[in-house]
Amino acid sequence: MPPDPTRIVTISSGPDPTATIPESTAPHENAWYNRDFSGYRVSEQPLFQKRPIRMVCVGAGAAGLQIAYKAERLLEQVELQIYEKNGDIGGTWLENRYPGYT
Ligand SMILES: Cc1cc2nc3c(=O)[nH]c(=O)nc-3n(C[C@H](O)[C@H](O)[C@H](O)COP(=O)(O)OP(=O)(O)OC[C@H]3O[C@@H](n4cnc5c(N)ncnc54)[C@H](O)[C@@H]3O)c2cc1C
Repeated sequence: MPPDPTRIVTISSGPDPTATIPESTAPHENAWYNRDFSGYRVSEQPLFQKRPIRMVCVGAGAAGLQIAYKAERLLEQVELQIYEKNGDIGGTWLENRYPGYT
């Protein structure tokens, strides 16, 4: 299910969506730009440019659930995998009860 857009929090320090990357063939003021340095090239990318990442979280307790919540609403291009040793989520609160509560 896609996230509810009314619950998405905007982060001010995100990437500039209007930033453009020069074509690799374009003349550039940086003489090192796009030159072949024996196996790597200096390319130009705006700071904070998003790229796909895989994220692994161990444990579906309060912290793991918070990561899942934030990842769905605030992050893009993130593939999140949570490993949990128990048969259900909840962590400490799955395994413990306050005295007198069932
Ligand atoms: C009775 C009690 C009362 C508490 N009251 C408070 C309170 O009032 N306020 C407060 O802030 N904190 C309280 N705590 C502390 C509570 O532990 C934390 O608030 C919170 O549950 C911690 O969340 P967590 O996700 O960091 O850890 P956890 O909830 O412990 O989650 C860790 C998860 O990782 C899993 N895991 C561990 N090892 C592995 C592994 N190798 N592979 C896969 N999965 C793994 C566990 O099964 C678990 O699901 C209380 C704890 C107890 C027991």
